[in-house]
Parts: sequence; structure tokens; C-alpha cells
Amino acid sequence: MKHLKLAAIDNTARTVVRVGDATLGKGFCVIAGPCSVESEAQMLETAAAVKSAGADMLRGGAFKPRSSPYSFQGLGMEGLKILARARQETGLPVVTEVIDPRDVSWVAEFADVLQIGTRNMQNFALLKEVGKAGRPVLLKRGMYSTLEEWLNCAEYVLSEGNPDVVLCERGIRTFERYTRNTLDLSAVPAIRELTHLPIIVDPTHSTGRVPLIAPMSLAALAAGADGIMVEVHSRPKEALCDADQALTPAQFAKIMDRLRPLQRFLAEGPETTETG
Ligand code: PEP
Ligand code: MN
Repeated sequence: MKHLKLAAIDNTARTVVRVGDATLGKGFCVIAGPCSVESEAQMLETAAAVKSAGADMLRGGAFKPRSSPYSFQGLGMEGLKILARARQETGLPVVTEVIDPRDVSWVAEFADVLQIGTRNMQNFALLKEVGKAGRPVLLKRGMYSTLEEWLNCAEYVLSEGNPDVVLCERGIRTFERYTRNTLDLSAVPAIRELTHLPIIVDPTHSTGRVPLIAPMSLAALAAGADGIMVEVHSRPKEALCDADQALTPAQFAKIMDRLRPLQRFLAEGPETTETG
């Protein structure tokens, strides 16, 4: 990948992105929250639940890039203010998507991390703008994109002077229809071979199915990912967006209870039991 001047792995250390108390690129960062911010009550309730289950960062979309123009598009500015409240109440940093280059500078005033969604991965004007925004960027893989195309998009952000880029594998389009997308878990070790940038996995949008989220979260950790991002809703059945794939707070807490011991096991190896 000869065009990668800044993203390519070299002999310097791996990039570690610090956001408040959360770290991406060291340990295992869990980002959780609803697909979209719908109301203050929904966001604050969900935020408190994921915080108490041990999440490291909050997510929630205020601008939703919907496939249909008639679907809920997000609360916009009001959603950003609610996210700021949720951050204040939980102490957790907030990641939210930005979809329009004209919004970047003011969204950056509310968000701790700017998310670029799959549909905008190659929106070069947007990439250049977030490259100048002074906030870490979570760059989701385009659903039709190769690893090389994805890394070139990271390069766009880096080349504007922003070193804090985190990649997010969120599934790619294949012929399979049972799952919403096909999670390319092999992208995790492949990306780690190609770049020093952190990579996390989104088991929610890649599978679109609640029962698959726990196994794919554990698999992401075992594959060497630096974290996951999952959708959690205080009342999934009422969600205005992606209702079928949202975890309840209880389901999320159960996943956390399985992730943390696996994380310790992978870091330290099996517990040694003393013998006679
Ligand atoms: C999201 O994370 O809210 C989202 C819209 O994901 P994607 O861009 O991967 O579809
Ligand atoms: Mn979603």
C-alpha cells in the first residue's frame, strides 16, 4: 500500500487515542448507547445503564444518515445538547456521527469523538474537515470498501494534521441476507498488520441480530480488536431506528460480564492454581 505515508505501520509505536478516561489502542474500549438520540429521558436512562454495566464511552446519533429520506433523521442540535447532558451525568465521553462538512466545527464543540459512517467513508470533503476539527475521528469502513480504500480515507484525515484516527469494522455487503452485513473479522488482524491505528468492531450493524452480538463481541476481543461499539436502548421495542438490533441494558450487562474475564485471560493467561 504505497500511498500510505502516515497510516502505514512503521517502527514507531502504535497510536493510542485518549478521550477523557477512555483509551483506544490499549486495553479494550467498550462504546455503547442507542442508535439515535430520541429524547432526554431515553438517552439519560440508557447512558446510566451502560455506565453502570462498565461501558467506557457513550454513543448516540444526532444526525442519522438514513437510507430513506422519510425515516427519522435525528434530533440535530437538540440531540447534541442531550448528549452533552449524558456526558455530564455519567462522566463518559461521547461519540456521535457528523454527516455534513458544514456541521463539523460546531458538532466538534459538543462531541468528544466524531464518527464518520459507512455511507460517508469516501466523502473526501467531510474527511478533510474532520481532519482539521481537533477531535479524534472514528472512521467506519465503507460497506463496499477494501482495506486499502479504507486506509486511504484514514490517510485523508491524518494528512490534515489530525493523528487521532480510530478504525471501525462494521461489516461489508456480501450475498448473505440472513445477517444485515457480513462481519469481516479478519480485517482486525489484517489492519493491525498494515497500520499503527487502533481498530474496533461494531457487532451490531455487522450482524443486525441481537443473538449474534455477544459471540461476535467476544470474537472481536479474541481477534485482537481494541474495542467494540454496540447499540443499547433502554426500551428497544420503542427505538425509532434499528430497533431489531438494539440490546436491552440487561443483555448488554451480560456481555460485559463475559468480556472482562476474557480480556483478563488474554492479557494474563489462565489463572494458575497452586498445587500441593
Ligand atoms: C451508526 O453507527 O449509527 C451507523 C449509522 O452505522 P453505519 O454507518 O456503520 O451504518
Ligand atoms: Mn444504528
